[in-house]
Amino acid sequence: MSGDPQDDCLFCKIVAGHIPATIIRETPTTVAFRDINPQAPTHVLVIPRVHYPDAASLAAADPAVAADVLREAGEVATDEKLDSYRVIFNTGSGVGQTVFHAHAHVMGGRGMQWPPG
Ligand code: C5P
Repeated sequence: MSGDPQDDCLFCKIVAGHIPATIIRETPTTVAFRDINPQAPTHVLVIPRVHYPDAASLAAADPAVAADVLREAGEVATDEKLDSYRVIFNTGSGVGQTVFHAHAHVMGGRGMQWPPG
């Protein structure tokens, strides 16, 4: 789990600019782009440039970058003028993770249920 780009990873390809995405923020360690299939009026993904399969493995290997992802999630919410929002890290196919490159979903702009379905 080196953090190196993976040839078969969709989000590594977005980081590299090989697949298009609507990028709204970039930092030296992160990229934020609009989800291609939005589930809320604001639905943005914040990803680390380095490849780790999920948020916990990123945090274990590179806690500073994990913190950058969280900070950027907050910056997205500020940019989008969200008073209330969710930051979600799906972890594992059993709860719907489909892309195994760590990413935060930043979602807001509508009411939401608790607990989530
Ligand atoms: O948490 P999960 O792994 O399911 O999230 C992956 C997300 O990546 C999905 O919400 C999907 O719509 C999004 N996606 C995207 N652009 C792509 C492929 C997937 O925004 N090219």
